[in-house]
Amino acid sequence: MLAERARRLTPSPTLALAARARALRAQGVDVLSFTAGEPDFDTPDHIKEAAIRAIREGQTKYTDSGGIPELKAAICAKLRRDSGLEYDRTQVIASVGAKHTLYNICAVLVDPGDEVLVPSPYWVSYTEQVRLFGGTPVLVPTDEARGFQLDVPALAAAVTPRTKLLILNTPNNPSGAVFPRADLERVARLAVDRGFYVVSDECYDALSYDGRVPSIASLGPEIKARTLVVNTCSKAYAMTGWRLGFAAGAAEIVKAMGDFQGQCTSNPTSIAQWAAVEALGGPQDDVAKMAGEFDRRRRAIVEGLNRIPGIRCPMPQGAFYAFPDVSGLFSRRWSGGTLRGSSDVTTFLLEAARVAVVPGADFGSDRHLRISYACGLDQIREGLARIGAACAALDA
Ligand code: PMP
Repeated sequence: MLAERARRLTPSPTLALAARARALRAQGVDVLSFTAGEPDFDTPDHIKEAAIRAIREGQTKYTDSGGIPELKAAICAKLRRDSGLEYDRTQVIASVGAKHTLYNICAVLVDPGDEVLVPSPYWVSYTEQVRLFGGTPVLVPTDEARGFQLDVPALAAAVTPRTKLLILNTPNNPSGAVFPRADLERVARLAVDRGFYVVSDECYDALSYDGRVPSIASLGPEIKARTLVVNTCSKAYAMTGWRLGFAAGAAEIVKAMGDFQGQCTSNPTSIAQWAAVEALGGPQDDVAKMAGEFDRRRRAIVEGLNRIPGIRCPMPQGAFYAFPDVSGLFSRRWSGGTLRGSSDVTTFLLEAARVAVVPGADFGSDRHLRISYACGLDQIREGLARIGAACAALDA
């Protein structure tokens, strides 16, 4: 009965795990969850107030499908302020979260048979969205020894006449890698020479602990014309539930995305748009405060993980995920069986340590776990103690 594309779809594993941890908690089991892809902070008050004002002032009707002019102006100003990028209002669009933005991009650029390069490890929705439109995701491993940095020669070797897109995500979910300017320059040259487009997912741009890295789109007019910059209010402003993402790029592509969106969702919620105007254009102090707190947690969790025999964790440079290699635990045994891959380790930690994490297999690496540190330091310390105790009790 179901269409082919529905039968091929893999449900989001991260959401499924978070739900499993919530269900256990509802049964009274004391589970610490490190699965969240969202800040634990509350949306800053000045942003909430802007939304409340919008409701009071009757901003509760349909808007232009691609967003109100005030939001488009705020998006242009944000890209100018943070990345030195100049776009006009015909080149930007707001949608219902960056996940929706990315979906719109696939809808208007990916034809059946097109290949889309995805550096691995990767965020799960990229490959699923590409497949929904009949495209073929081509996974290109990154260089783990250099902290999951891009392997540009491997990317070049993966380009074929069918290559339509490359999806870059920096700072990276799940690895925490931040790609330096020199590598972005080499990728830009490759894209221009070989004629493919680049999606630059910059959703974690505010969380880059060694300073902001340039957007690939800012590296010259030719690459700018071929790049779709994607961002969201979700992470920097703790606004995951508001669902407000956006993109900037060539007017022709952005118009097609708007036409597609006009037949699917129409505008993102009017109230969320007014909140986003305030988030992007208002005071940015809370962003720096949250980033500082994430940085402290990052150091605590990485130091703690590296003290546990069998676990090795490089220092992530951005986003809010640790991505430790747990292959040192493989072939060890517990009452539930022998640990053979990241899913086994995830089950073991949930059952034996009451700690929920996400298996790296879901992101393209079965030797790793993704551990979100978007939670308080107390939870991080308690989680580390539980993981350490459970691992110490494993049979050799
Ligand atoms: N890109 C990446 C890399 C992400 O991690 C996420 C959220 N987990 C998104 C896009 C989507 O964010 P949203 O839809 O909340 O804007």
